[in-house]
Amino acid sequence: MVKPFVPQLVYVEPSALDYPLGKELVHKFEQMGVEIRQTTSHNQIRNLPGENDFQRYRIAKSTLVLGVRKTLKFDTSKPSAEYAIPLVTGCMGHCHYCYLQTTMGSKPYIRTYVNVEDIRSSRQVYAGACSTAYSF
Ligand code: SF4
Repeated sequence: MVKPFVPQLVYVEPSALDYPLGKELVHKFEQMGVEIRQTTSHNQIRNLPGENDFQRYRIAKSTLVLGVRKTLKFDTSKPSAEYAIPLVTGCMGHCHYCYLQTTMGSKPYIRTYVNVEDIRSSRQVYAGACSTAYSF
């Protein structure tokens, strides 16, 4: 059975609290007793705990950052022509062969975006631009 991801530490960007989902998630994690810290931006987590890079990396993989996605451009899921809907960045897995360890080495924490409706609205641009019927 797959265990759900439960963060050990949560960072919150102030603007995330302007969204109902941001408030709901903060409340949920408070009830669970998870430590919650503030961060000025979901792109800059500067005070991860840990005495060395190894410890900080381990902690980062169980850290969730709540932010607001400003870039609503979708990247393609290479090598396919499909688009990836950017709701989450990163992965909580620890696979030794994973390329994310190098491509996301400076930001190994998991980020999720609370402005889901903004992101969902953007998909119309992409769905309308192609002739294939997608269901999101
Ligand atoms: S291979 Fe990488 S992206 Fe896939 S589950 Fe493992 S750590 Fe996550």
